[in-house]
Formats: sequence, structure tokens, C-alpha cells
Amino acid sequence: MKISEMEAGLYCTRCHDETIHRVVYVNNKIQSIECENCHRLTGMKIDAKKELYEEVYDRISTKPSRMTQEYKQDLSKFVSGMPLRVISKPYRLMKYVNETRKVLKKTKQS
Ligand SMILES: [Zn+2]
Repeated sequence: MKISEMEAGLYCTRCHDETIHRVVYVNNKIQSIECENCHRLTGMKIDAKKELYEEVYDRISTKPSRMTQEYKQDLSKFVSGMPLRVISKPYRLMKYVNETRKVLKKTKQS
């Protein structure tokens, strides 16, 4: 399981301005987007156990294309539902972490 953090310039509906947002991904799914200015948080519930299961499943079998499509649909649905104008300008890749334990911990807390 992989957590990625990225900073991106997005339009914040609270600040009414383009601000730096911290985007957290678990595998390829957006988990949360937080405005660095006002800390407005847009979260998405991620089932860590399901993520882990799917990851293991991917490794032991040929990935069905249906699953990939579902991923894409989920993501696009989420993005289109966001009250944020995404400016395709992710300018700094913060870090890559590879600790499943952290994800499970985070999910339990939220
Ligand atoms: Zn803001």
C-alpha cells in the first residue's frame, strides 16, 4: 500500500482564491485534500482493508479490467463532485511512503 502526498494549486471555495492544497493519495485514490491556508478539509472515506485486499488480489491474479474502470469512475466522480477547480499544476511531489501500517492507523482514527 502506498501513500503519496502532493501539493497542488487549487481553488478554495472558502478562501475564494487559488491556494496551496495538500492532496493525499492512498494507492491511486484521493483520500483527502486540505487547503494549506484555511485548513478546509475535503475527505474521502477509504476502506483500508478493501484497499489491501485489492492490492493482494492484484498480485496473485491477473487484474480484471473492470476493476481498473471502477477505480477511474470513482476518481472522476469524486473530482467532478469537488467544489474545487483543479488546476493541473501539481508542482511538488512531497514524498512516497510505503507503510501499510500507517494507512490502517489513519483510517481507524478518522
Ligand atoms: Zn482555504
